[in-house]
Amino acid sequence: MSAKLIDGKKVAEITMNLLKEDVVNWVNAGNRRPFLKVVQVGNDPASTTYIGSKTRACRQVGIDTDTTHLPDTVSAKELKAAIRSFNEDDLIDGILVQLPLPSHLSSHDVIESIDHRKDVDGFHPMNVGRLTVDQPTFRSCTPAGIFELFQYYSIQVKSKHAVVVGASNIVGSPMAIMLSRENTTGKATTTICHKFTKDLTSHTIAADILVVAAGQPNLIKAEMVKEGAVVIDVGINRVADETSDKGYKLVGDCDFEGIRKKASWITPVPGGVGPMTVAMLMKNTLLAAKKSIYPED
Ligand code: NDP
Repeated sequence: MSAKLIDGKKVAEITMNLLKEDVVNWVNAGNRRPFLKVVQVGNDPASTTYIGSKTRACRQVGIDTDTTHLPDTVSAKELKAAIRSFNEDDLIDGILVQLPLPSHLSSHDVIESIDHRKDVDGFHPMNVGRLTVDQPTFRSCTPAGIFELFQYYSIQVKSKHAVVVGASNIVGSPMAIMLSRENTTGKATTTICHKFTKDLTSHTIAADILVVAAGQPNLIKAEMVKEGAVVIDVGINRVADETSDKGYKLVGDCDFEGIRKKASWITPVPGGVGPMTVAMLMKNTLLAAKKSIYPED
């Protein structure tokens, strides 16, 4: 078997074009442009790169945005005061605090200080809680993007055995919740694995749908995957590559070449899940502007 490629770049482009039309219609109906406030603490180069791609995406779909830079010495009190002022600003629809934060700041604490109605990343406990009870919410962008891919390629989730490797608050956990809980798109029998999972292969080999978000290059090898499985590789890892000008290349968590001979569908890295994550952030920002999730009284 040779797996069919799930082309996240193409689907993201289609999604972004649809969102662009939505924004045009929204503005033509007399509304102001949606506005996304990004907060960057410190100068982590990877964060700067991610913010750059989010800013470009905003420009592409017609969402206004700016980034507030705070020094990496900022106190929790100062950061939360800034967030509070953005919460109260009616011209700001969505707020995104770029993670990770410097170690003296608690990301839980900071995320909780964002108004849940502006939490376009979908990380606030209110939004995560609503996800677990299958209520309308800002769905975490990476899992939401994976569900768009399932829909685009008509990949059936219901009644399948899904295995998620990785249990972080931003990818693995919400992915597992959505796979298991969501009435319309989910309803898979779901297993979630993490560092303390014994005999990882015994779980991955049973997966009809395998989602890997561990941040460990080459963690999942062909012999760990069931014939005909759908394999979604969320990982983005830099590994040394002398043939590249940059000195590194990006790889996922899966042995792509080995697994593509066994799987039915597979995402490449790059060009798989990553572009969808940014597109879903745009979608959430538009939902926030329209007050679709939390209508005003
Ligand atoms: P975290 O480091 O926060 O979480 C990793 C998770 O994987 C943890 O739950 C951890 O277990 C688990 N894990 C680590 N090693 C193993 C192992 N050997 N076996 C089983 N489980 C393991 O990472 P993120 O969730 O933030 O990101 C995961 C990957 O996805 C990264 O490469 C990141 O760059 C990428 N990413 C990609 C995005 C995209 O848009 N494509 C978006 C976000 C992230 P434990 O809980 O026990 O520590």
